[in-house]
Amino acid sequence: MLTMKKADYEKILAHAKENLPEEACGLIAGTKDGDKKIIEKVYLLENMDHTNEHFSMNPKEQLAAVKDMRANHLVPLGNWHSHPESPSRPSEEDKRLAYDPTVNYLILSLMDMDQPVLKAFDIDKEKNVTIEELVIQ
Ligand SMILES: [Zn+2]
Repeated sequence: MLTMKKADYEKILAHAKENLPEEACGLIAGTKDGDKKIIEKVYLLENMDHTNEHFSMNPKEQLAAVKDMRANHLVPLGNWHSHPESPSRPSEEDKRLAYDPTVNYLILSLMDMDQPVLKAFDIDKEKNVTIEELVIQ
């Protein structure tokens, strides 16, 4: 189970909307206690691809985020990106690029702007996708 603060959700949502029609992306970090993961901080990164179909994170910003996590004693919990025009589920490319089965992949769908949908996923080595429970509070 993954827990996220309402304020962090709002941050992701605002960043994703600002970057429309392109996909937006970033990292999540926090604490881990067995299966219980708490997101303490979200990072908003530049999508270097600048398209509405895929993303690659700005490596400089990614490095700065990882340094910040270390400085704040947070562990990397995964990443997030938006789907401006498609549902909240990993695309074939998302699955291909999901190289770490120990982290979560969050996808925010803005397909229906009035009803954004944020879901968290696990993607294992065989590229099987399962939904991870995400609580926003
Ligand atoms: Zn995607």
